[in-house]
Amino acid sequence: MPAPQCSSCHAARAALRRPRSGQALCGPCFCTAFEAEVLHTVLAGRLLPPGAVVAVGASGGKDSTVLAHVLRELAPRLGVSLRLVAVDEGIGGYRDAALAAVRRQAARWDLPLTVVAYADLFGGWTMDAVARSTAGTGRSRACCTFCGVLRRRALEEGARLVGATHIVTGHNADDMAETVLMNFLRGDAGRLARGGGLGSRGEGGALPRCRPLQLASQKEVVLYAHFRRLDYFSEECVYAPEAFRGHARDLLKLLEAARPSAALDLVHSAERLALAPAARPPPPGACSRCGALASRALCQVCALLDGLQRGRPRLAIGKGRGGRDEEGPPGPPPPPPSDLRSGPGPAAGECGAACKERCE
Ligand code: SF4
Repeated sequence: MPAPQCSSCHAARAALRRPRSGQALCGPCFCTAFEAEVLHTVLAGRLLPPGAVVAVGASGGKDSTVLAHVLRELAPRLGVSLRLVAVDEGIGGYRDAALAAVRRQAARWDLPLTVVAYADLFGGWTMDAVARSTAGTGRSRACCTFCGVLRRRALEEGARLVGATHIVTGHNADDMAETVLMNFLRGDAGRLARGGGLGSRGEGGALPRCRPLQLASQKEVVLYAHFRRLDYFSEECVYAPEAFRGHARDLLKLLEAARPSAALDLVHSAERLALAPAARPPPPGACSRCGALASRALCQVCALLDGLQRGRPRLAIGKGRGGRDEEGPPGPPPPPPSDLRSGPGPAAGECGAACKERCE
């Protein structure tokens, strides 16, 4: 049977049916509709004011590639300028190839690119070193949790370095739905409460962050990349298979089979939860070491570096028995990166890496 006509231009044959609406569109009309929807998300949510200098968290993966491409198309209408900021976590056999994809994108789209490295920011620690340090401690499965903490801070540092006023990341609706599921499964009311909405306004001096693709499904992000012939990196990080996010993804697929709107419904549920006053966590204070936002004496980055420095990385993050904070007694301070400032740590899935499909 021949493909139906595009229901928008009525001139070309349809190349796809939109997963949610079933609308039959040709490739160009789908891409135009996708860009218009992202524009609406940004304008309706007042995410990026005219004049904003926007740091795009660029990982080389499909989501941040699509985000950078769409925002580049929309930048004249939004009145914003773009900078690509990539983070080198120091993951051998993975990140170099992803960074090569980011460099190709920056050259092709004529966008300035800045790369910040964990090793430079965090006293020589790379993710490979963190993984070696956690191996056999019972925390080796938590690589992505550690990485998410460091990555959020690194992106903030990179954005400040390029003079950005706002940070955008490529999380899509499926990513956010997985995050909501993970937070539910962990009983993490605090993250559920602050995980809704399209971003954060940037409290305590942190830069405002937003997710312009948050209402776009993963399938449509892939379709957009296909029809725009975007060059992106699609291999999985070596530490991803251990991540808890994979279970949330499997569960979401089962839910979507029974209820196609499950992902967006979960995203909107999180928005409503975030609005519930009783669910809001108390305002964070300042880290006693670096001054960044923190809900305990030390922010998550300093607590993690402290634990790694003392050879007790499993104590770096999380609660001890009986719910006590596991920061441990003060040890020798890690070599502090200069003037580290950012939020109290990532809500699950906010690290912005290409692997955020998997990271916690
Ligand atoms: Fe970091 Fe992502 Fe790799 Fe996890 S999967 S270690 S968050 S880069």
